[in-house]
Amino acid sequence: MKSDDFACMISRSEPGPGDGGRTGSWRVQRPVIDTAKCIPAKTGKPSCFTCWLFCPDAVVTKTIPPTIDYVYCKGCGICAEECPAGAISMEDESRFITEENDKGCI
Ligand code: SF4
Ligand code: SF4
Repeated sequence: MKSDDFACMISRSEPGPGDGGRTGSWRVQRPVIDTAKCIPAKTGKPSCFTCWLFCPDAVVTKTIPPTIDYVYCKGCGICAEECPAGAISMEDESRFITEENDKGCI
């Protein structure tokens, strides 16, 4: 049996952005990153990325600074809870309603 055949017989999990659908449409709070507090944004070094690691929807980028894809972010708040620098705040989604309407996200 070739290794490719074996790969087809086992379950595999390869999470990606939007695995749960366009969840941004029902978010009530959105995470906002304060780049003045975010460790990689402040230092310019590829460190931390705890938000990227813990996001269950894989919508945080591992970039400097990290960014969040709000089309798919469901607003669960895990990133804000886990951020060691307190750099992510959960803001009321209604503050951004005009911006989201313009992008067609809601
Ligand atoms: S967890 Fe916080 S400090 Fe770390 S990369 Fe994300 S926003 Fe920045
Ligand atoms: S609130 Fe944070 S952890 Fe939750 S889906 Fe959005 S970016 Fe990911």
